[in-house]
Amino acid sequence: MQRGLPLLLLIFTLAACQSPPAATPFAATIPAANAAQPVAQGATAVPTANPLPSRTPTLPPTATLTPTVTPTITPTPTLTLSPTITLTPTITLTPTPIASATPTDPASDPNNTPVPTWTPPPPDAATQIDDHYRMRRPISDGGVNWIARTYPYGNTSGGRLQVHLGVDMENPSGTPVLAAADGTVYYAGSDAGEQFGPTTNYYGNLVVIQHPFQSAGQPVFSLYGHMQRVDVEPGQTVRQGDQIGIVGGTGVAFGPHLHFEVRAGDPRSYRATLNPDLWIYPFQGFGTLAGRVTDASGALLYDVTLQVKSTDISRYAFSYADTSVNPDPVFGENFTLGDLPANYYTVTVSDNGRVRFQQIVYVYPNRTTWLEVQLKP
Ligand SMILES: [Zn+2]
Repeated sequence: MQRGLPLLLLIFTLAACQSPPAATPFAATIPAANAAQPVAQGATAVPTANPLPSRTPTLPPTATLTPTVTPTITPTPTLTLSPTITLTPTITLTPTPIASATPTDPASDPNNTPVPTWTPPPPDAATQIDDHYRMRRPISDGGVNWIARTYPYGNTSGGRLQVHLGVDMENPSGTPVLAAADGTVYYAGSDAGEQFGPTTNYYGNLVVIQHPFQSAGQPVFSLYGHMQRVDVEPGQTVRQGDQIGIVGGTGVAFGPHLHFEVRAGDPRSYRATLNPDLWIYPFQGFGTLAGRVTDASGALLYDVTLQVKSTDISRYAFSYADTSVNPDPVFGENFTLGDLPANYYTVTVSDNGRVRFQQIVYVYPNRTTWLEVQLKP
């Protein structure tokens, strides 16, 4: 019985909205693939002197004519080099290592991945769905503004954590948190006395913003949890990109990070969430893969791991863990994988080494690409 409380605390800690602790600092380097090489252009030879042979005939007293030709040629070419390309310096990012808030997978940094330059195949109109990317990143470009893929929306991180109904962006305390879209502040402050999560004291200091757009007729909200400090008040009007607070680790959080949610309908309902991958506009040249994982009869399958692999990167997507995770009313998806550089990807589902699904798909830039993943029996 004496071990009961520590065990309970351990379980509670594991259930926290957090990312796996295996944090490894890394140095992100933007490849210098675009750095221009100097090229000498327009080298033109312009001779400025015309050869003018001067002929000096000499007539001997005899009748024989012996002309002596003495040409005087002075070519003076003038070469003019006109370099017009300016060198772009190689930019090297050196992020400061952050305890418990550092991305574990450098490949998850979208800025690390070169964007392909070939022309994509024509899109398949039959699978094209109208996007509603109405939001921007709640962290600025200088911070970690991509979603942690080890614990994405609808996922349990391999059964270790409770179902995640938002997404995490792993940043150190003090990083500015930005409004994802224009709106009006619905709530700002601690949730010690007001419940927004499964319990009170769950999100710590949070902000909820109502936006002037809807999802299937329902009002749309964005929620920002675990903040160290909030910088706005209820009723205040905010514009997309305005600072609304700073990152912290308040509430049930293992380490500092921004927990971000999209809710439609009741802003206080923990079960009103939608997948942020389908609401946040992709990075330029990047897209989102979304679809449904079903069995041979078309029934939805839960917690299936999909490998999504290109010649450059390999990532994992997971179908939603259970029926508590809402699909988007427009898409009806049960998995997404955002922040993918536009490219061809091989999507594979294996079951104890046996391939039950494999298909090559082109993920288009700046939109959602749909994929039906129907597993073989
Ligand atoms: Zn979270």
